[in-house]
Amino acid sequence: MSSLKIHVNSPRVEYTAEAILAEYDYQTMKVARAGDDSAPAYEVVPESTKLLIKTDIKVPKLGVMLVGWGGNNGTTITAALLANKLKLSWETKDGVKRANWYGSLIEASTVRLGSDGVEDVYVPISWMLPMVNPDDIELDGWDISDMNLADAMERAKVLDINLQKQLRPHMRGLKPRKSLYFPDFIAANQESRANNLISGTKKQQLEAIRKDIRDFKALKKLDKVIVLWTANTERFADILPGVNDTADNLLKSIDESHPEISPSTVFAVASALEACTYLNGSPQNTFVPGAIELAERLNTFIGGDDFKSGQTKIKSVLVDFLVSAGIKPVSIVSYNHLGNNDGYNLSAPQQFRSKEISKSNVVDDMVQSNKVLYKDGEKPDHCVVIKYVPYVGDSKRAMDEYTSEILLNGHNTIVVHNTCEDSLLASPIILDLVLLSEICSRMSFKRAEQPDSEYRCFRSVLSILSYLLKAPLVPQGTPVVNALFKQRCAIENVLKACVGIPPENHMLLEHKVD
Ligand code: NAD
Repeated sequence: MSSLKIHVNSPRVEYTAEAILAEYDYQTMKVARAGDDSAPAYEVVPESTKLLIKTDIKVPKLGVMLVGWGGNNGTTITAALLANKLKLSWETKDGVKRANWYGSLIEASTVRLGSDGVEDVYVPISWMLPMVNPDDIELDGWDISDMNLADAMERAKVLDINLQKQLRPHMRGLKPRKSLYFPDFIAANQESRANNLISGTKKQQLEAIRKDIRDFKALKKLDKVIVLWTANTERFADILPGVNDTADNLLKSIDESHPEISPSTVFAVASALEACTYLNGSPQNTFVPGAIELAERLNTFIGGDDFKSGQTKIKSVLVDFLVSAGIKPVSIVSYNHLGNNDGYNLSAPQQFRSKEISKSNVVDDMVQSNKVLYKDGEKPDHCVVIKYVPYVGDSKRAMDEYTSEILLNGHNTIVVHNTCEDSLLASPIILDLVLLSEICSRMSFKRAEQPDSEYRCFRSVLSILSYLLKAPLVPQGTPVVNALFKQRCAIENVLKACVGIPPENHMLLEHKVD
């Protein structure tokens, strides 16, 4: 028995000092259309691919660098990491509260391992493989505002005051590094924050960021650094031939300080060049084709776009439920109002447009999956409104109306009103993105029939992160999945595959058949 929390006793799973090696039957279906439009029919051929999956078990010393460290999310995830590490508790009007990781898929949700003969056995997802312990993560980051993290936490107005008081001594010494401010990319209303800036040409700025990453890595003696954008939403960058369409053109454009290269793309390029995973928590198109090609060329990982925290998470459950119940959503209208700095930035049209685009395609896969309900190209009306209302602060309001057609021209309208501190939803997602992308970078695969071939890692674009992201980035030509439980199954089943456990099938035949 190894020191791992889960040990699979199977001749097809081997534990070595360095890795877990699993032999795995990956089953898919090949489908061919047999009939024509008047009499459609399909032929289905089950296929099985024998895979060898290797997971390195050495847990690296991990550093995370946040772009936008002094923002609401940046300060809240910092506070959450410290509060959990220090096991803080604090008094509130509702009694004493203790630090937790509620909202984190990895730390606070469970998977079913099987049954002990009497009842089902569930364990936290973090037990499935040797993952980084959040308490051991080193944090650093950049912000265009020079405010220390304690004052920035107060500015954010997210956390209970008695928690803030305990965290203050641990956070006032944390100061964001200087960052990039290209006023054209974020709302003009952010200008007054911008007092902590790297000057110079874009090439010099890129090099400064690369040096920050190297310095942090050396200072904290880290094995690995992950960079995550939780700074303000930028406008979309134009995709220009010769400018950002290929990796070489993108690097050349940075050399030439081309105006269409955004701060977030410069961070993505710096991360790739420093062999770091780069994750994008905002909606903008940081990953222009050149940035994707660069990550692929350098075999680094990228993930994006836009944290899937509240309204979209519900949407990707509710629409999946409706469509898979044979009910036809025909109109989805979403109103949001919020009063934090993110909302202030989104009150500018170009930044709102980035968010609108990110929120607009989130039901496409569910709609396309059901041709009984929707003809080719048919979609529900889908409208998104976001308004800035300062008084509500970080406590975002989301109101959604789903109108569906039901049997024989009946109508069903569901209205959801969601009130929630935005940053308390986003922070566990930041943790999950980091932990999941890190463990994925230690997995590799090969076909059993080619035992002499090299193990290959996941492709650069980590589509397995889709559960956590509103507009999931996937490798070109591969399917985008928005439905939340499919996304969750993908994570659970990949983690299980690494230890040779088959996918959860929920059939419970042992209880249904004698
Ligand atoms: P925020 O405005 O409180 O924080 C953003 C921080 O980024 C600010 O401190 C700002 O000074 C800094 N910043 C702006 N441009 C920068 C740059 N170029 N380099 C470094 N720092 C820069 O916003 P927030 O509420 O923390 O949200 C952050 C991002 O996450 C937003 O883009 C938002 O749309 C996205 N997001 C948030 C949620 C959520 O639930 N909170 C969900 C999805 C997406």
